[in-house]
Amino acid sequence: MLLIVLAFAWCSVSLAQPLDLAINNGRVIDPASGLDAVRNVGIRGGKVVSVGTGTLTAKRSIDAKGLIVAPGFIDLHWHGKDTSSDRYEAMDGVTASFELEIGTADVDGWYRAREGKSQIHHGVAAGHAPIRMQVMRDPGEFLPAGPAANREATPEEVTSIRQRLEAELKKGAVAVGIGVAYTKAASPFEIVDMFRIAARFGAPVHTHIRFASSVAAGNMRQFGLLEVIAAAASTGAPLQVVHVNSSGQADTAGFLEIIRGARERGLDVTTEAYPYTAGATRIETAIFDGAEERDDAFFGQLQWMANGERLTRETFRKYRKQGGPVILHTNTEERVRLAVKSPLTMIASDGFDVRAQGHPRSAGTYTHILGRYVRERGDLTWNEAIRKMSLMPAERLAKRVPAMRNKGRIHLGADADLAVFDPRTVIDHATYEKPDQFSEGMRWVLVNGVPVVDGGKPVEGVFPGHGIRAPVSR
Ligand SMILES: [Zn+2]
Repeated sequence: MLLIVLAFAWCSVSLAQPLDLAINNGRVIDPASGLDAVRNVGIRGGKVVSVGTGTLTAKRSIDAKGLIVAPGFIDLHWHGKDTSSDRYEAMDGVTASFELEIGTADVDGWYRAREGKSQIHHGVAAGHAPIRMQVMRDPGEFLPAGPAANREATPEEVTSIRQRLEAELKKGAVAVGIGVAYTKAASPFEIVDMFRIAARFGAPVHTHIRFASSVAAGNMRQFGLLEVIAAAASTGAPLQVVHVNSSGQADTAGFLEIIRGARERGLDVTTEAYPYTAGATRIETAIFDGAEERDDAFFGQLQWMANGERLTRETFRKYRKQGGPVILHTNTEERVRLAVKSPLTMIASDGFDVRAQGHPRSAGTYTHILGRYVRERGDLTWNEAIRKMSLMPAERLAKRVPAMRNKGRIHLGADADLAVFDPRTVIDHATYEKPDQFSEGMRWVLVNGVPVVDGGKPVEGVFPGHGIRAPVSR
């Protein structure tokens, strides 16, 4: 009885308060509940507080007739350091982005650098590669370029890497990042050690597998996939194989088949893709060890990011000494399409600071999927695409990060992180030549109920993004 009275009291109080925002007449697509219908969505205090057909009174009302209202997109693969790229991500429908593949050696510092400066939510993994770089005194910038790439760790070094990883997880890192291809001298046993720690914390391991993207390794990448599947099976750590399109290349279909088989046998293995045929990384890294052996045609697939120039054997040598970002035009449309369409993949951009990375994926991944894969080609339905971009990534992190249970969904009490877009016009405009182009078609993007895109335009000077962490255990 008391409960009923309390519930009634709460109801009348909450109904008496006007909503902060109402989004009326939009087609609400919530893959978690299966809802796909015209509804009015009420928001108060940064939360969704009503989803229904009744008229809503609010301080501000938006007419979303003809528009799709979706959970905001969650990007599990982002490397940017500069929060000014948030505007491009927001214009692409992204309301949370995570650096999980490489991660950081300083979880507290990483969150501190973004506090109060972020338009969208953000989170980070404890990173094996950056910790290995610190322990082994590697001079690399962001990725290993010396001993952390090329030398086997001593038992003492492995112990300190393990302890450092554990310490960063205790600070609330949301996952463990292992870029095995960038630490190629790390033994498989060292990698399994990291999986063991991840398993203890229930943290998913996001991994760029060994030999993947390595230009001289041929089909060795197949062993790279089997290594991490075995590590997950042996330790119980959840596993996310990042960018199956660029890690898989000619083996993409085989990779998806192996991941499907692992899942069918009960392993918690997931994967992701970005919808472009080129990758991007740094030229001084282990990825390019042995490239000198390749024929002349290979170098023409590489594009120097700073000026768009296609490389030759000679310019490759020059830039490898100098160091810096390079684009790799090595994949085919057919393989990328296979990866994007697979029900196994979530969409993740692998983006970087928009102005520093000459790759359209940083600003255009999500609207590229909506405009080209859904509207133009019909490869995916709206519902399937939205599931891959919101619910699936939220679920990937939810076991370790309870806060993610209220994201990627539109239910009562869910965080009001929403993307409201026009299905007739939504499209990306970023290209390899002009990567810093806003996407089109996002009409309103809300982060905790605060518009960061309003009427199709980026909003300046608002920073509603929060740091998302796993529970801290000191
Ligand atoms: Zn990668």
